[in-house]
Formats: sequence, C-alpha cells, structure tokens
Amino acid sequence: MKAYHLTTFGCQMNEHDSERMKGMLESLGYREAADRDQAELILFNTCSIREKADTRLAGHLGEAKRLKGEDPEKVIGVGGCWSQSMKERVFEQFPFVDVAFGPGQVHRLAEFLTSDSLTAQGYFEFEGFTGHLPMRRARDFQAWMQISVGCNCRCAYCIVPSTRGREVSRPADELVAEAQQLAADGVREVTLLGQNVNSYGRDLPRDLKTSFAELLAMVDAIDGIDRIRYTSPHPKDMREDVVRAHAELDSVCEHIHLPLQAGSSRVLKAMRRTYDRGRYMNRVAMIRDVLPDVSLTTDIIVGFPGETEAEFAETLEVAEEVGYDSAFTFIFSPRRETTAAELCDAVPHEVKRERMERLVEVVQRRAYERSQRFVGRTVEVLVEGQSRTDPDRLRGRTRHNKTVNFSGVGEPGEMVWVDIKSATSTTLAGEADAADEPAVHGRLVDAADEPAVHGRLVDAADEPAVHGRLVERQLTKRGRLRCRSR
Ligand code: SAM
Ligand code: SF4
Repeated sequence: MKAYHLTTFGCQMNEHDSERMKGMLESLGYREAADRDQAELILFNTCSIREKADTRLAGHLGEAKRLKGEDPEKVIGVGGCWSQSMKERVFEQFPFVDVAFGPGQVHRLAEFLTSDSLTAQGYFEFEGFTGHLPMRRARDFQAWMQISVGCNCRCAYCIVPSTRGREVSRPADELVAEAQQLAADGVREVTLLGQNVNSYGRDLPRDLKTSFAELLAMVDAIDGIDRIRYTSPHPKDMREDVVRAHAELDSVCEHIHLPLQAGSSRVLKAMRRTYDRGRYMNRVAMIRDVLPDVSLTTDIIVGFPGETEAEFAETLEVAEEVGYDSAFTFIFSPRRETTAAELCDAVPHEVKRERMERLVEVVQRRAYERSQRFVGRTVEVLVEGQSRTDPDRLRGRTRHNKTVNFSGVGEPGEMVWVDIKSATSTTLAGEADAADEPAVHGRLVDAADEPAVHGRLVDAADEPAVHGRLVERQLTKRGRLRCRSR
C-alpha cells in the first residue's frame, strides 16, 4: 500500500478540501504517513492570502526537493490557492513538482495518480466542488460543509476571487442530504463554509433559489445536528432574517463573525468593501438588538496603502466601541493580481507593526472584559479532548465559540454543562457540573405551564426527576426544555 503525506496551509476552506483529498486518496488505496520521508506521495494544500504563506511554503518545498533527490520515484503534488495563483509558473519555479492543481480541481489529482502520465501536469480550471468526494474528518462529531465556492466581491486587497473564481452555490437539497448523512454518522456540529455565506443561493436557478436564512432553517430541522456555525458573512449582506435565525433556531450558535477590515470609511471605500463605518455600526446595533448576548468576532487589516494615523485611530475607535469577543488581525500584504498591490502609498513596515501592537492591545482588553460575562454562568460545552495545557483537564467549546478548559468527566463529542469560574480574553476555565452526567440535550418535556424565559435557567429545586435525578431546566429558543441533572 502506498503512503501519502499532506500538509495544509491557510483557512478552514483549505482544511476541508484536505479532508476531501485524504478521503479520495484513501479510497484509491493510499494510507497516511506520519512523516514526509515515509511517503511515496508528498502533497501540499497551499494558501496565498498573505506573503508569509508563500515564504513558509518555499521552505517546505525545499525539503520535498531533497527527498525526491534521494528517491526520484516520489511524487510531489501542490494544490490549493497558491498553486492556482501561479498556474504553470509552479513548474518553472519548482521543476521537481509532478502535479499542480487549483482548489476546484482536487478530483484531477486522482486522475493523475491513476494515469500512466510521466510528464508534469497542471489543472487550473474553476470546476466546482469537492463535495462529492469522500471525506476523512479530523473529528467524528464536527464537520465542515462547503455551501459555496468563489466570491463575487472585489475587495482590493484580496486574492480569493482570482484563486477560487466566481461564486457558485450548491443546491440546498444536496446540502441537506449531506447534513443528514453527517448527522447519521454522529456529527453534532456543522460549520457552513463560504467566502460570503449571506449571498448563498443567489446564483441558483429560480426553482432552486434558497436564501441563507432558509438554508439555516433546513439544517436546523435535521435531528442530531445540535450546533450550526458558519463563516464568513459579509457585512453588506448581513440581513435581519439571518440574525433572527440565531434567535429562533435552536441549533444556530450564538456567535457571528462580522469582518470589519478597517474603521475608516475612506479606507473601506479604497478597499472596495461597499459599506462605510456608519453602515457597519448599524449592522452591529441590529445584531445586538436581536441578540444582546451574542459573541461578535471580526477580521481587521492594518496598514492598507495610504492608511493615515487618523484613519487607523478610527479602527481603534470601532474596536473599542464594538467590543469584539475576539479578532483576527492582519498586517496588509500586497498580493498578485489585486488592485491594492498596485497602490504606491505603502505604509512603512515599522508603522504597520506599531499599529498592530496598539490594535491587539484594544482587542485583547475588550475581549477580556467581554469574557467576564460568562463567569458565574453554567454553559453547554461540546467536549473536544484533553486540555492543551493540563492533561488532567478537558477542553471544549461553548456555543459562543469560546474555548473552555475544565475539570470533570466527558468524552470527545459529548455535551457537558460547565460552571465557569474564570475567564481570560481567549479562554474560559471551569468545572463540569453534576459530576459525570452528560447534558440531556433538547429532551422534550411538557412545558405548557412554563414561563417563556428564553435561554435563562429556571430554578428547579422541586422539579420532577428525569432518569431518577433532579434536573435544572433551561428553555431553548423554541420553548423546548433542555434539562441538566443535579
Ligand atoms: N471571505 C472572507 C471575508 O470577506 O471576510 C474572508 C476571506 S480571507 C481568507 C480572511 C481574511 O484575510 C480577510 O477577512 C482579511 O482580513 C484577510 N486578508 C485577505 N487578504 C489580505 C491581504 N492581502 N493582506 C492582509 N490580510 C488579508
Ligand atoms: Fe476576499 Fe472580499 Fe471575497 Fe472576502 S469578500 S473573499 S475578502 S474578495
């Protein structure tokens, strides 16, 4: 049996494509090797969003070249966005590469491996999805689902439209069937992936048209899927129907990632984001009005060409005012084939670094303050495994997308209730509630005479027992009762 080794760079979309690559290779009879030197097939799923990703890849390819020098039979493959952005130049720059393919061409890798071709091949069409390929997931209970590929926006700094093409949505019935299969396989949490999830479905033929909010409702209706997440929405398309879905659908988690990019309206215009500071803040107000407790996270770029000190100060103001639960912060990096790369008014690197430090200080301070609202609360945690810092504790994630380290008992994939004792800007710490009892999730109990308290704990000292134990009860968004043992 031949072995492969796959290294993945970049975003969740790439992680998901890699799951499909692994599934496909395993269906061809390959097994995964722990190290590159033990593999007959050395693969890279690349990213090109920032320059740093290119530099890192060059180092890894150097090692692949050395290994191929020792054993010329080895096959070297380079997939993903960097490969797509370079196309045939991959072979000019790295002549030892045997096969190169873009994100829409993963299936062509199988074609190459099963053919007798001895010449290097490149596959760079935009042909669609990896959705029909077999998948090998990292965790049995969590899955990604790609709802669309590509992007029709033209953000001045971004390489994605040229590496992933125009937006194409997958029909809702195909996605529902995939989610049903995932649920049947034991998946409890799905993350819907797209470059702009809110514009999902607009490109579908009239008889198949489905909005993103409708898609959320369809996935929510599937038994067994307890949590739905998605990334990323674009603020220009963030409509109230989607925000209401968070309030009304039990599975849709209390977390929204709303990329800001910059706080200054002039910079946003130069970035071609198609919203200004006021419109962004209105979206935040609408979200907080409907979902007062929601976690808000964001992406911010510092040092876009021409960004002045006063304009950067506006980014700080927005970060201060919104109070994000966390933020991905990026230093602007000029990318091939983007209009921002042509702009000459570059911000000096030292200035970018210094602005980044100031931004991170605001983001972390506000995130720390926001985190404190969880202290003293009992939250539902999906157990992911052992704590990374203390092997005697467990690690999991809340519906608000906070990592929790806690003491107690729980298997990966189980929901447990955790009493939160302390919080930093990034993680919560606590103790599993009710010793060894898993949360009884979404169990239907007659709630006719219950007050409609949305998501608040109802004191249940004298409640009837479920499974012979007293329970505390929490009403879900739809007035169903979640019970937890006492
Ligand atoms: N489609 C998503 C959106 O619009 O929010 C995200 C796409 S991108 C994979 C993730 C983030 O990378 C962007 O939100 C942006 O903040 C950052 N990014 C993209 N291009 C960049 C560049 N040239 N320099 C620095 N950061 C960049
Ligand atoms: Fe890139 Fe903008 Fe599309 Fe996001 S919305 S993928 S930042 S072009």
